[in-house]
Amino acid sequence: MRYIVPVRNNRLVFIAILVLACVGSAGLVGCAERDGIEPPIFDRARAFGLLKRQVDLGPRCPGSEGHSKGAEVIVNALKPYADSVRTQDFTLKLDGRDVKLKNIVAHFNPKARRWVLLAAHWDTRPIADYEVIAENRKRPIPGANDGASGVAVLLELARLFKERAPKVGVVMVFFDCEDYPGSMFAGSKRFAEALPESASLDGKPIRIDYGILLDMVGDKDLRIPKEGESRKNAPDLVDTIWKTARELGYERHFPNEFGSSIHDDHIELIKAGVKCVDLIDFDYGPWHTLGDTVDKCSAESLGVVGEVVARVIYSEKENPGD
Ligand SMILES: [Zn+2]
Repeated sequence: MRYIVPVRNNRLVFIAILVLACVGSAGLVGCAERDGIEPPIFDRARAFGLLKRQVDLGPRCPGSEGHSKGAEVIVNALKPYADSVRTQDFTLKLDGRDVKLKNIVAHFNPKARRWVLLAAHWDTRPIADYEVIAENRKRPIPGANDGASGVAVLLELARLFKERAPKVGVVMVFFDCEDYPGSMFAGSKRFAEALPESASLDGKPIRIDYGILLDMVGDKDLRIPKEGESRKNAPDLVDTIWKTARELGYERHFPNEFGSSIHDDHIELIKAGVKCVDLIDFDYGPWHTLGDTVDKCSAESLGVVGEVVARVIYSEKENPGD
């Protein structure tokens, strides 16, 4: 059977095609005007599971059993998604004994010409010095927010970068020994001092445009003001991140407020010439106490930070100014 389209219908088909073509091209123009690539969905529940997974190991303070297991968990969580994973190993004398430490470095999108560095510390504090009862102050903190939260967001972002490659390369660094009294920021110091070698890919240096550090981003009541050193050293990047957060409807969590200056791992990167923003919610009641537990954190908070960082990365172009 042959179906003969009546003339009138032919005209309708023609009009329909014309309309579709217009809508289609308008859509294309719209796409071209938008920056970058649509990020894949950030799985909040998975990120929260990764936070829990770390806390379940017990404290990850240098020299502890949880510490060596913690590094393993991170490396194994990265392997299916990263193009390369390696560790930067070093030994430090902590409280009179030699302790093995490691920064974990992973690369995504190895052919990229420019790179963004994403970082978080993975170790936890060996003492709960803000505990009220003196006896408790000697115990290590669980580090759900202060340690596990930033790592969890990065590990879920790793899955996104594998699912859909951004236009820029991403080098992720998980710093060790951020929170050891007397040797604070030892991991980031070691990494920053050894740049560009410490961030290199297959022995070749990479061009890092900027860095974003995540620290204490899991608080249920998430509020990240614009940290002082970030504003001073990377004002444009601060603007971009907070503008992105506003566009996503997260102004409540990224208020347009000036936070105080915080000594954190980003300072070491800044000293080494990498402009870097620290996303940190320093207003956290259980900070450096035994109460820094999973129930104080939420999947939603990890999701907010993850989505904002993802949007920033996926909006990047291959070459700045393109
Ligand atoms: Zn801390």
